[in-house]
Order: sequence, then structure tokens, then C-alpha cells
Amino acid sequence: MLIIGSHVGYKKDSGLVGSVKEALSYRANTFMFYTGAPQNTVRSSIDLENVKEAYKLMEENNINKDNVVVHAPYIINLANGDESKFNFSCNFLSEELKRVNTFGMKYLVLHPGSHVGLGIDVGISNIIKALNLVLTNDDSNVMILLETMAGKGSEIGRTFEELKRIIDGVIRKERIGVCIDTCHLNDAGYDLNNFDDVLNHFDKVIGIDKIKCIHINDSKNSLDSHKDRHENIGKGTIGLDTLMKVINNPKLKDVPKILETPYIDGVAPYKEEIELIRKESNS
Ligand code: FE
Ligand code: FE
Ligand code: ZN
Repeated sequence: MLIIGSHVGYKKDSGLVGSVKEALSYRANTFMFYTGAPQNTVRSSIDLENVKEAYKLMEENNINKDNVVVHAPYIINLANGDESKFNFSCNFLSEELKRVNTFGMKYLVLHPGSHVGLGIDVGISNIIKALNLVLTNDDSNVMILLETMAGKGSEIGRTFEELKRIIDGVIRKERIGVCIDTCHLNDAGYDLNNFDDVLNHFDKVIGIDKIKCIHINDSKNSLDSHKDRHENIGKGTIGLDTLMKVINNPKLKDVPKILETPYIDGVAPYKEEIELIRKESNS
């Protein structure tokens, strides 16, 4: 069965129950959430009663918790070697892993980071250092999913080879997976019209079994534009047919698909987009 959902909100008052209800309102069977605002690191304590209630709601509606993913805030940048910023990012990531574990989820999506002028080599070595530091001091089983990036600014993770270099340096490799993002792949220069080739290339470099989440977004910009601006499904440069090739790929059948497309006139498009994708899907 197609595992599809979207990014949903997480608010202090309604907690995880609110996130589940939002996902259900889109008729989704999975979802992704941030443990607070995506752009900052203010986080409130987790209400365990609320989490229990959310799990009950998920079970009643056939949402498997192992398909639910958490996204780390953008502000974490493990590639920046500046001592105070590096320590801040490492500490926040450690706390975030604990939070994901408390929520009972398995996956945390993370942007690898931006090298901010230090160069790719230094950036990658900083990321490796950070991941090793954080993972050696963490006893959860939460897997960090490095997201493929568009290559905007000094973003690391634009190519599969860059992600592979990071994974190679991490000691606890079993704790690292990958989240591919269709808009980012397009903007990074991977032509999704030839998705089989892209996936074969990924398999050779990293291994297809490392893909644990897929962000399904159309793109406002052309192939290789290095922009990262998401567009609604079927309205961008990738198009519905090509996105469906990704969604319908049998090798990625069991991987959760998450929409991060923009709101239209202040309204979430996810119910309609999920319905459209279900109609076009072969599973
Ligand atoms: Fe992301
Ligand atoms: Fe994404
Ligand atoms: Zn993006």
C-alpha cells in the first residue's frame, strides 16, 4: 500500500495529537513533523499523556509509527566549524534525538549543513566529526536521515557522492540513512525523467536500502538550478508523470512519501494532492 502523507504542524497545546489529527484530515497514512518551529530551536517539554493518546489515534487509523518521520530544524549546521556554533548544533542534535526517541519515532531527517565558505572538504569533515560526537553519546536507535540538497549557497549533500563521503566517515553507520527530495534532486541536476538511472546511480554510490524517506515536491525551477523552491504537485518543472515514476517505483514501495509543497492562498494543499497521487498510483 502507498505510504503517503505530508508535513504537518506541531503545536505546544495540541501536541502530537494535533499533528495526527491534521494528517488524518488530509486522509494521509503517515506524516512528518518538527518538534517545534522549523526555523528556531525553542522546544517545549513533551506531554507523555498526549503522546499516548496520539498513538491510540494512530493505531485506530492504521498509521504505523515507523513510517512517521521527524524533521530537525534548519538552524542546525554541523558543517560550520566555528566553535560555539558547532557546539550549539551538536547539543541541539543530541537533544533532538532524545526527543524523537521519547516520541517513539525511528527517523530524524537532517540537512547535512552548509560549509559557509570553508569549502566542501572542511565542511564534510566537520559534519563527520559532529555525527560521531553525537552518535557515540546517544543510546537511542533513532536513525539520522541525511537529506539530498539542492546545492543552494554552500549546501553540502547536493551529490550522492558527498553524502557517501559523510557516511564513510561515520563510525555508527547503522544509525545513518538518507532522505531523497524530488525538488532538491531536480535542482541539484539529477534528471528525474530518467529516474531509473538516478536510482541505479544512488544504489551504486550509497545503496538503495539506505533510503528511508522520500520528500515529494515539484520544483519552481529548472534542472540544475541550485535553487530549492518547492512547487505544488504537477504545477512545476518536474510534473506529475515524472513524480509518479518516483512514487510508483517498486524498489521504493515501502518507503514513506512526504509532501512539502507550498500552501495555496493560506490553505494546505495536501488533501487534494494526496487524493491526486492515490488516483495515479499503482499500489
Ligand atoms: Fe528538508
Ligand atoms: Fe525536503
Ligand atoms: Zn527544500
